[in-house]
Order: sequence, then structure tokens, then C-alpha cells
Amino acid sequence: MRSDILVIGGGAAGLVAAIGAAGVLAERGKGETVTVLEKMPKAGRKVMITGKGRCNFTNVKDWADFSAHIRTDVNFLSPAWHNLTPEALRELFRKNGMRSVVERGDRAYPESHMAGDVVDTLLRACTLSGVKVVTDCEVKTIDVVSGGFSLDCVQTSRKKVGEREEITIEPVEYNCKKLIVATGGLSYPGTGSTGDGYLWAEELGHGVDACLPSLTALVPVGYKDPNPLAGEIKQAFRGRTVYGRTKERKIAPLPKWYPRFEKHIERVTPLSELGELFNGNNLENVQLSLYVNGDCVQQEFGDIEFTDGGLEGPLGFMVSRRAVKALVDGQKVSVSLDLKPAVEAEKLDADVHAKWEEVIHDERSKGQSFQRLFRIMLGKLIPWNLTLAFLKTNPKVSVDTLAATLKDWKMDIAGFVGFERCVITAGGVRTSEIVAKTLESKKQAGLYFAGEVLDIDADTGGYNLQLAFCTGYLAGESAAKSL
Ligand SMILES: Cc1cc2nc3c(=O)[nH]c(=O)nc-3n(C[C@H](O)[C@H](O)[C@H](O)COP(=O)(O)OP(=O)(O)OC[C@H]3O[C@@H](n4cnc5c(N)ncnc54)[C@H](O)[C@@H]3O)c2cc1C
Repeated sequence: MRSDILVIGGGAAGLVAAIGAAGVLAERGKGETVTVLEKMPKAGRKVMITGKGRCNFTNVKDWADFSAHIRTDVNFLSPAWHNLTPEALRELFRKNGMRSVVERGDRAYPESHMAGDVVDTLLRACTLSGVKVVTDCEVKTIDVVSGGFSLDCVQTSRKKVGEREEITIEPVEYNCKKLIVATGGLSYPGTGSTGDGYLWAEELGHGVDACLPSLTALVPVGYKDPNPLAGEIKQAFRGRTVYGRTKERKIAPLPKWYPRFEKHIERVTPLSELGELFNGNNLENVQLSLYVNGDCVQQEFGDIEFTDGGLEGPLGFMVSRRAVKALVDGQKVSVSLDLKPAVEAEKLDADVHAKWEEVIHDERSKGQSFQRLFRIMLGKLIPWNLTLAFLKTNPKVSVDTLAATLKDWKMDIAGFVGFERCVITAGGVRTSEIVAKTLESKKQAGLYFAGEVLDIDADTGGYNLQLAFCTGYLAGESAAKSL
């Protein structure tokens, strides 16, 4: 089958790439075609789970403020961002029937607060602009041929036969003049993002910078059950099959950029007794300091969540990129929480002593143990549900040292949750080998990359989707213009 432009991956970047390309082709009026190949039964699986199902699809900060949240080469991303700014993206959605709202921190959401609306709008825009979206079509290999590319794919077809679903799988070949790879990273592989694009990038001569999970949970020492799952590597590539030109099956070797992490702690590793005490607690307006080998390397203010994964929420995620890198490099990582950042240590100490006096002189305190009274007093300073975890991790705390401990609650970090449940993949196709103004490969003419498959990543807050959308749009427009 033939299409002038093929896009591999029907995620955020791929769908917008197709829309961008179709817009240019419509102006040319030569009847050229764009096709998206998506391996999952539905496009946009990952978008559906973004923003806890609400999809924080962009952030409307201007470039100066937006770029401060990008953790990779800002100059590389500037042309793509300026070609489809957050406001232009909102307008693109609006024109296609989806209104959006801007909330705290300049985060934009669909007005309905339903991620499904984002996917539906993108698919509607594809249909209206003549883009063909083929689902259940997994690209296996890419070959460079005269005048373009040839792709070996596996097409799954599903048919209802009475009560059961009949599934047929057959090989299909696609050919194109221009190819856009928008296969995402490695995070949440269940959504279809399993790093396939990195393999082809390497085969086509590109460097792939080592991938690390980012915006992920950090696991304090003792938080998870020290069972044999900890540290085990689940290799997404184990057993992966590749269909070569002769269609014989062979096991792909594990790519050299595919990381093995000693400090990876599977999300499903059960919580320890201590972890259970933490789990489900959220703290607002606290300060978190990240220490690497004893040096404070990052300080952030905001909210933190203790989940079944570990330390998460905006604060946990903000420091996770650096923390994961340090852990992978074998450095000692710890965090310190200041639960009362707005109160001076001396004032807090006076507060603690005043509360202690109140508690011990309360009629109801008669006959109660010291431990019980101390916990009651602590419960006046931090959420009651967190008091046991606090006391367990600070067994020597006293009335005199409580203020200092509340301002410096230290936890050593044992490891991190991996690609199975991280938000974004840091690392990927090396951007120095891609033309920033077009997103075309410097190694292979006619080949473009967009979205998370590239070595681009940013903070939480709508920044990552904006980068996926704007790189997709630029790659699509550039591919179409170059036809
Ligand atoms: C839980 C979660 C919440 C998030 N929330 C937000 C948020 O609120 N705001 C924000 O800005 N960012 C958020 N992100 C990040 C955001 O989802 C990503 O930045 C974005 O989806 C990347 O888009 P992409 O198109 O590059 O990759 P993906 O969305 O991963 O799409 C890649 C597509 O390629 C397909 N594919 C892969 N290999 C093949 C193949 N061989 N053949 C055919 N198709 C293939 C996949 O099936 C997939 O559909 C979140 C991420 C997660 C995991």
C-alpha cells in the first residue's frame, strides 16, 4: 500500500503531525495522501490517561517562562514551539470543536475536563483533512528504498463471530516518500509506547541517548517490602520478535541504549508496614530538598503525595529526574522535607512547647503514656494519619528536637519506579542529529522524528504534551512541504 507521507504512531505527536501535513497538502492540491499507522486497536491511548483523565494538554506560558521548564536542549525546541505556540494549539482544537480552559499554573485543559475529547478532536481533525488512520497496524521494520521507505507491518483484523471475536493477523507492506516516526518513549508500555522508534533510529544511523524514567515515584528506604522483586529488571524487549524481509522470526538483541537499573523498584512491589503508614497521605505547601552525596542539589516548594509507588505528586516528580540520574550513577540520594517552610525554626519550637504544655495539662491526658501524648501533640502540627510514619522514621525525636525535625525530615531514597509507571522518558533520539527547523534527520533524507521518541522532556504541567504536539506539527508540515 502507498501513501505519500506515512506517520508511525497515532499518539499526540503522530496525529498532529498528520494534521499539519494534510494542511500543507490541501494547499498544494495535488491529491497527495497522509496515513497514520498505529499498532494499538485505538489511537491516542496514552493521551486518554494524561492529567488523571483530564488531559492537561498544554501550558500557556510565554516562551521565556515555558522554556524554563524544559529539561533538554531548549534551542532545539524553539522553532517547533514558535511554529505551534500553546495559544495556536488551543485555537487548532477550538477550530475543530474543542474549547479549553486555563487553570492554576497556566495549565490548559479541555473545557469538559475529559481527555477523551482531546483524542476525539484530533481524530475528527484527521478525518476532516483526509488523513487515514490505520489502527491495529504494527510497524516491524523500515527499509530505505529508492524514492522513499518501505515498511513491513503486521495488520490485526477483528471480526465478531457470534459471541466470540475472530482475530486474523497478516503481513502488510506500506511504501511512502516521507516518513515521520512518532512512536513515543518507553513509559506506560501498555499504551503502545515500547521504544520501537529507538531501534529504527539506530538502524538508520542515529545515536540514541540512554533512556531513563522521569517524572516517576522515588521510593524511600524501607517503604517497600524488601522482597526479591526489588531491583529486578523487567525487560520490555525480552522475547520481542522482528519480522525481517524474509519474514522469518528472530529474537531482537537488547539494544545498547536500553537501560538496566539496579535501583529500579517495580511499582507492584508490595508496601512494607512503614509504606502502609505513608500511603494515601498528601501534604500541601511543603518544601522538599534533594541531596546527592550529601550536597543539596535542588529545592522545590509545593505539594507531595505518598502513594503505593513512593514519593509522588508535583514535588516528587520535580526532583525525580535528577534523583533517578544520580541513583543510576551509583550516588547516594536522600530528600529532606520541611513541613513548615513558612515558619521560622525558633517560632516553631516555641509553638511545639506551647502545644506540649496544652496537651500535658489537659484533663483528658491523665494516665496516658508519654508516647500517646506526644503523638496527640504531633497531630496538632501535621495530619494525624501521617503521625505514625513520622514517629517510625524519627524514633529519637523529643519535644526539644521536634521543631528541627519537622523542618528537616530526612529520608534516604532506595530506588525509583521504572518505565512501567513513569510519566515521561528522558533520553531518546539525539537531537543534534536532527534539523531543528524541520525535524528532518541529518542522517537520512525524508525521515522525520517527533514527540517523546526524541531526546526531549520537561516538567509536569502540560509542557510535555505541548512539545509532542508542536514537534509533531512541525515535522508534518516540513515533510509535506518537502514533497
Ligand atoms: C500517566 C501519564 C500522565 C501524563 N499526563 C500528562 C499531562 O497531563 N500533560 C502533559 O503535558 N503530558 C502528560 N504526560 C506525558 C504525555 O503523555 C507524553 O508526553 C505524550 O503522550 C508523548 O506523545 P507521543 O505522541 O510522542 O508518544 P505517545 O503518546 O506515547 O504515542 C506513541 C504512539 O506510537 C504507537 N506506536 C509505538 N510503536 C509503534 C509501532 N511499531 N507501530 C505502530 N505504532 C506504534 C503507540 O502505540 C502510541 O500510540 C503523561 C504521561 C503519562 C504516562
